[in-house]
Amino acid sequence: MTDRGCRRYSGQAVVVGAGIGGLAAARVLADHFEGVVLVEAGELPPYAGPRAGVPQARHVHGMPARGAGQLERLFPGLRAELIAVGAPLFDHGLSASTTVFAGRVPRTEAGVRAHAFSRDLLDWSLRRRVTAQPRVEVRDRSPVTGLCWNGDATRVVGVRLAGSEVLDAALVVDASGRFSKLPRWLVEAGYPRPAEKVVDAGLAYSTMVFDAPGPDFEALQHMTSAPDLPRGAFAVHVEGGRWVVTVFGAGGDHPPTDERGWREFARSLGNADLDGLLGSATPVAGVGVHGFKRTENRRTDYAGMRRWPRRLVAIGDSVAAFDPVFGQGMTVSLLQAEALGDTLARAYDLDAVARRAQRRVAAIVRAPWLMSVSEDLAWHHHRERGALPLWLRAALWYKRRLLRLVVADPEAFRVFVGVWHMVRSPTALGSPRMLAKVVFRARRTGAPGPAADGDGAR
Ligand SMILES: Cc1cc2nc3c(=O)[nH]c(=O)nc-3n(C[C@H](O)[C@H](O)[C@H](O)COP(=O)(O)OP(=O)(O)OC[C@H]3O[C@@H](n4cnc5c(N)ncnc54)[C@H](O)[C@@H]3O)c2cc1C
Repeated sequence: MTDRGCRRYSGQAVVVGAGIGGLAAARVLADHFEGVVLVEAGELPPYAGPRAGVPQARHVHGMPARGAGQLERLFPGLRAELIAVGAPLFDHGLSASTTVFAGRVPRTEAGVRAHAFSRDLLDWSLRRRVTAQPRVEVRDRSPVTGLCWNGDATRVVGVRLAGSEVLDAALVVDASGRFSKLPRWLVEAGYPRPAEKVVDAGLAYSTMVFDAPGPDFEALQHMTSAPDLPRGAFAVHVEGGRWVVTVFGAGGDHPPTDERGWREFARSLGNADLDGLLGSATPVAGVGVHGFKRTENRRTDYAGMRRWPRRLVAIGDSVAAFDPVFGQGMTVSLLQAEALGDTLARAYDLDAVARRAQRRVAAIVRAPWLMSVSEDLAWHHHRERGALPLWLRAALWYKRRLLRLVVADPEAFRVFVGVWHMVRSPTALGSPRMLAKVVFRARRTGAPGPAADGDGAR
């Protein structure tokens, strides 16, 4: 955790983008600089409401327990504040309806608490706190159009705004999200284009918001299974007694964005809990159905570049945007913001910070990236009609047996939930004890899945 109040660097830091990554970065940088300017392209409403810059906020945004803990570390008191406005905090095993390809997981205590709220509420809560910091200035409706450089383009010295205004900066943090222009800005300054990796599962989301009398759960997950079961759903009880319900389809099986089609898609899942919820729910007037298709995993290898400018750090979706199904993006951004603060706290020469911080940012991405792409590579290969590599066939075989076990074995479920919530390493799923259970017990356990064990790895 950064040491609050330990300002060491003169001048101001500029953060590009007021999403979760940018807000967390601004909060952290205020401990280290004389001033912080948070520059946002779109308009920031003075309330918890939708805004054009983050269209993904319309959709279910689950916050893993690790991210929730991180939020509380960066913004003490936030958890209580969210609870006070009705954001439910609950055990992910006892109060969640979870269905995987092998069946529905019996309710059992998971020992991991999930906190549910809308993304709009979270953004607004962070925005209010960051704006209230005396050293932070927030400028909305100010798109950044490029970087400013020193003479030989080895150091970033500021940003250019639309209308050619220039903001000087001792450090620039790019947190402008999935569609960041940073690769182009680097190329314009004479740097090679950074390497990029894209794994596209062909996944799309479609979301409605409801008022509903409470069912006996607070959240619902119905998971896809590559490459046979492309359809899934999330439903989350958020503040104000509302339910945000997202249906999704991978491998190009996209959910409709009209209400009738949306409901048919939801019914096609055959999930009794979801049917029950929707049967007694009323769509919130004026919200409609919203789709989102740009969900590919996209990682830009800034840390691997041979030359990297001083005084520039990229975090959040700008560096790695994930398939949202695992709900890792916000947590990763928060962890990266903290790592940036820690790097600043340890360094005495600001010129040494950017490279180090960028490496730490990349290290934080590694495990979530692997988790996200291992499933998505199967969809990716499936769509391209390519044969699955052997390692992926093995990984899918393991995963399907693991999920059979998760349905039948509370201990395995707890490990699974811990990994999902990022409080346990993904390696816990392959520990000797889990390995033995998966290999020797899974075949005998779990409800029969829609596809025979192992034949998903075609
Ligand atoms: C459909 C969907 C569902 C998701 N669900 C989850 C989930 O369940 N859990 C989870 O943890 N994550 C989820 N995510 C990911 C999550 O939204 C992001 O990881 C998270 O918002 C962190 O992103 P960020 O702050 O880097 O970028 P964003 O939140 O995208 O913010 C970027 C900001 O930069 C601004 N901007 C862009 N360009 C400029 C510019 N040139 N100048 C100034 N400002 C600019 C934008 O207007 C925006 O405000 C989901 C993503 C999608 C697409």
